[in-house]
Amino acid sequence: MDEFSGQREGMVIKLVKDGYLGSKRVIKVFMDIPRHLFVREEDEKFAYADYPLPIPAGQTISAPHMVAMMTELLEPKAKDKVLEIGAGSGYQAAILSKLVKKVYSIEVDPELVSFAKQNLKRAGIKNVEVVRGDGSRGYEKAKPYDKIIVTCATPEIFGSWIKQLKMNGILLAPVGGGFYQELIRIRKTKKGLERKNYGGCAFVPLRC
Ligand code: SAH
Repeated sequence: MDEFSGQREGMVIKLVKDGYLGSKRVIKVFMDIPRHLFVREEDEKFAYADYPLPIPAGQTISAPHMVAMMTELLEPKAKDKVLEIGAGSGYQAAILSKLVKKVYSIEVDPELVSFAKQNLKRAGIKNVEVVRGDGSRGYEKAKPYDKIIVTCATPEIFGSWIKQLKMNGILLAPVGGGFYQELIRIRKTKKGLERKNYGGCAFVPLRC
């Protein structure tokens, strides 16, 4: 329990009602992770509203419904090793950390590497490794991954991601150039890549 428990419960109830959250494990994690530890102090009071908020370096922490939708689409399993592109605040990684074995999160901006690390530490999370680097190349060192989640708008699905993904693995990414993108889920199968579009979304762009 903390001073925001009531607001957090309100957020979760709405996400369930609107159909963004469905599985028991994921609902519990949304109840457990304090989102207010992942925003700037002056924004704490808005932490449980369903919209994106600014974080340092001109970036944003995604709206709760987007994090919920992406987490469910990733079908997280207890044994999974996950790669995230774009650590930002560390909130998405924190949510995943309670649902999978290990999360590697690549962040290009040094200020946000520190921000994400500090927030994850404050939340007492130990199985997320935040690495500074250009996520368009994935992260060779810890491959292969069961799941890859891209949380910045990417012009394309890079070959390095597909290569670093395990067979039957899932990759989730907002794909597109402009202000809006399409949320694409790819499953890597023996027969090739199965691709499904989950509709429009708006993410900050991938920077190289
Ligand atoms: N998942 C984050 C939201 C991230 S916003 C959260 O839960 O808060 C997108 C992030 O992608 C920003 O932090 C941005 O700096 C980062 N980013 C942009 N281009 C990148 C790149 N090429 N490699 C890694 N991170 C990148």
